[in-house]
Amino acid sequence: MKFNEVLGQESAKERLIRMVDSDEIPHALLIHGEAGIPKLALARAMAQYIHCENRQNGDSCGICPSCLQHKSMNHADTYYSFPIVKKSGRSEENACSDDFSKEWSDFLNSNPLVENYENWLEILKNENAQPLIYKGESVSIIHKMSLSTLSSKYKVLIMWLPEKMNATCANRLLKLIEEPSSDSIFILVSDNSNQILPTIYSRTQRIELKRLSTGLIASYLQDKYNLQQQDATAVAATADGNILLAESNLAYDSENKEFFKEFVLLMRLAYSRDLKQLKDWSERIFAYKREKARRFLKYTSRMIRENYIYNIHEQSLNYLTQEEENFSTKFAPFINEGNVIKMLDEINRAEIDIAGNANGRIVLFDLAIKITILIKR
Ligand SMILES: [Zn+2]
Repeated sequence: MKFNEVLGQESAKERLIRMVDSDEIPHALLIHGEAGIPKLALARAMAQYIHCENRQNGDSCGICPSCLQHKSMNHADTYYSFPIVKKSGRSEENACSDDFSKEWSDFLNSNPLVENYENWLEILKNENAQPLIYKGESVSIIHKMSLSTLSSKYKVLIMWLPEKMNATCANRLLKLIEEPSSDSIFILVSDNSNQILPTIYSRTQRIELKRLSTGLIASYLQDKYNLQQQDATAVAATADGNILLAESNLAYDSENKEFFKEFVLLMRLAYSRDLKQLKDWSERIFAYKREKARRFLKYTSRMIRENYIYNIHEQSLNYLTQEEENFSTKFAPFINEGNVIKMLDEINRAEIDIAGNANGRIVLFDLAIKITILIKR
């Protein structure tokens, strides 16, 4: 990772570059800021810059042996620590980040520009557990930082989310961070620096990262998702400088457009009593994974409610996109006192059935038939 690949943060980059160029690198750096502000990428760029054999114009060269090792995550003097869930057979005493080194490089490779904790939880495949940095990791770090450097002047340890160290781990590392060997550099990367053990926090030199501008987020979205500039800017503007929020808003946006089309189709086919096509429709919704089918049913409930509100001319209470509202101008009269409650009940029941492992194929076709009957009232 080169500095010029990291989004924004120009003044933080300048500070880091100055530290390296003047050979006054603090032994413990803390790069912190809210989740959704890319920080890990900056820490990686810093480590690569420290190790680069041919720095030029305030950046690493990207092609020397050190830079190439950084790129493939195999740099001999760079270590990573991060929160994990104990693997079976591992205890507090020996659970360490290296147990997940393969998952970790997949994680960094799949999202190099911005780290996403939710994504890390998915990779750990244990969404209910609270990942921690255990005592075992402090043992591993103390060992690694006692080794001589192999290919460079400094060994660098990048710790992602030091606030996830449990107390035993943090206390054991305290001495190392207070009195590091002259060739050791710790770069801590935190989403919630106020949760770091104060004795560690106070030993670090801190660099707080700022939220990204709407323009930067928009150009990131444009590149990554191949969006038009106007669409990317509209989504970026809702994200308050948080890239992860921008991406989840974007996903929500495109999923809702797809749901809207399926909702319109359901209502049209139900109105024309086209059972054969309704069967195809229910197969298509069934092909969604269960959670997506549930989100679709929730969307359908919301649209029924919105159309009822629209029908009784309480538009000030409506929350519809332009596309949805265009449809409602003609469709809303079909949702009325005679059927709104029953329709919502049926959709709700279908969602519960699908959540509870019922045969989704039957549940969805059954729902389509009931709507065919209810929409005529
Ligand atoms: Zn280089």
